[in-house]
Amino acid sequence: MDEVGLKDALAYYCLACDYRLTGLERGRCPECDRAFDLNDYRTLRIPRIEAMLRRVGEMVFEINENASLRTCVLSFASMSASRRNEVFARMIDAMRKDGQPVAVIDLVESLCFEPVFDAVITSLRSGR
Ligand SMILES: [Zn+2]
Repeated sequence: MDEVGLKDALAYYCLACDYRLTGLERGRCPECDRAFDLNDYRTLRIPRIEAMLRRVGEMVFEINENASLRTCVLSFASMSASRRNEVFARMIDAMRKDGQPVAVIDLVESLCFEPVFDAVITSLRSGR
């Protein structure tokens, strides 16, 4: 899944009135006039990202338990965000073809999101 595909798969809502904004890039909520921008996740309510953030604690544990996954994630930390997303997209593709468990694919897919990735890296570095 490429970055655009991932973006399209997300449903997002107005933070103030919960109006569904999916498909709109930026501007003001048609319902309540609150400003939003798709490039700034903090201006939107995105249920999928909320769910992913809840999984961060779980993921860090999973990564710490699995030495090769941990090394892999830490090496991603040195890449630029766009390069990283490119690599993740290819990994997800390969894993799907490979018949990997959905939980593992979900984990890698979650990491594509900058806030989630940052949280995982911070936790790994602080040895949590
Ligand atoms: Zn609104």
